[in-house]
Amino acid sequence: MVRVIMLSPPGAGKGTHSRWLTQQTGAAHISSGDLLRAEVARGSRLGRRVASYTTRGDLVPDELIFSILIPAVVAAVRDTGGYVLDGFPRTMPQALRAAELGVELSLTSDGVIYLTAPEEELVKRLLDRAEREGRADDTLGVIRHRLAVFTRETAPLVDYYRGRGILLELSTDRPEADVQADLRDWLETRGLMPHGTGEIQAVPGPAGRSQGSDRVPP
Ligand code: ADP
Repeated sequence: MVRVIMLSPPGAGKGTHSRWLTQQTGAAHISSGDLLRAEVARGSRLGRRVASYTTRGDLVPDELIFSILIPAVVAAVRDTGGYVLDGFPRTMPQALRAAELGVELSLTSDGVIYLTAPEEELVKRLLDRAEREGRADDTLGVIRHRLAVFTRETAPLVDYYRGRGILLELSTDRPEADVQADLRDWLETRGLMPHGTGEIQAVPGPAGRSQGSDRVPP
């Protein structure tokens, strides 16, 4: 079962392509943004704390993220054997913690998918989304701030994962179907998706890839 990390600036299509990967493979989709928004919607004390960061476009502190994300990843692996991590890790401390956990809990990932698009295209997409969904952090000022936060906090993860040889970089400044074709090739090359079908993958049998061979901590 596939275990991937989706890495991208806001607006590059992390959510869209994570959902597609989930449908194709049956792995659990874990969106840090969705989990945080659910906590905010509950109106809990924790949710109010989360909102004080997300509405400004700042990152939520790492410890708070770990307390929400780690149980979700553990449950996802228990339930489906895989995960599509959408929005986590997003800082170097998060990446290092995820790598440690990968080893400790045998949750190591198959790779990291880095989605890119030109900055003006990202801004345009997020403003379009604001009209459709009305997300509190999709205003022009906050969008620009989130992009700057990505460059400062998250972009270093690109080199980190590239250096480990597990990064697939894909432009999403083209039709969605083309991006999906590249994702499908990547998954097929690694034996993570059956050839030529759009069906949910069967659990790999003994002849499949053995865990640990080409896996690395997330
Ligand atoms: P986007 O990629 O469009 O910014 P997300 O839904 O992934 O949207 O995240 C929304 C907000 O949630 C982020 O701006 C940030 O405040 C918070 N957030 C999400 N994931 C993390 C994370 N891993 N670490 C810290 N903050 C996060």
